[in-house]
Amino acid sequence: TKFTDLKLDARVLKAISDAGYEVPTPIQAGAIPPALEGRDVLGIAQTGTGKTASFVLPMLTLLAKGRARARMPRSLVLAPTRELAAQVAENFDTYTKHMKLTKALLIGGVSFKEQDALIDKGVDVLIATPGRLLDHFERGKLLLTGVQVMVVDEADRMLDMGFIPDIERIFSLTPFTRQTLFFSATMAPEIERITNTFLSNPERIEV
Ligand code: AMP
Repeated sequence: TKFTDLKLDARVLKAISDAGYEVPTPIQAGAIPPALEGRDVLGIAQTGTGKTASFVLPMLTLLAKGRARARMPRSLVLAPTRELAAQVAENFDTYTKHMKLTKALLIGGVSFKEQDALIDKGVDVLIATPGRLLDHFERGKLLLTGVQVMVVDEADRMLDMGFIPDIERIFSLTPFTRQTLFFSATMAPEIERITNTFLSNPERIEV
């Protein structure tokens, strides 16, 4: 498979070529086509496999049309730690350099005021740790009913950190019709249960 065989937005393809990527990694070749068709994806992959681009690239293509409304993010990426959330945000910056999409990073250690201002303007992509996202929600500053695509990254680490109840709550705050891209390095029984509950006929890709 070549990147140009995948039906990615032309501006996304340009950013990939700027980054010097030549061919999709196996998780990318497996996850991007079903994600672009609107299917749920269950990716079983470790860090270092290119899994971040495997959800970011189709998301950007799906979000290329349309605009965000105030306080209603169009997509959501959940990561277990501040560092991982910040890394995902950096990936978005790399791949959106030829597009005009807005993003906000909701992690602890940053003032609510700054984050509120971004959310108020409307964001295409919200990247967050689960606790911080729920803090914003409880403060009444954020609605998740506009989320079209939701990503859970490193679900096994979420499990280790005790975030599964938060993840279930966040799933339940998003529309039933959302598309879900779910990634975990391993499939513990608790992870299997969550995916059975919240993913709809997912394409399962294991690398
Ligand atoms: P990840 O597994 O998402 O943490 O990605 C690991 C590293 O691989 C990151 O530094 C990416 O920039 C890089 N990468 C991702 N996809 C590709 C690709 N198709 N070709 C070359 N490098 C890539």
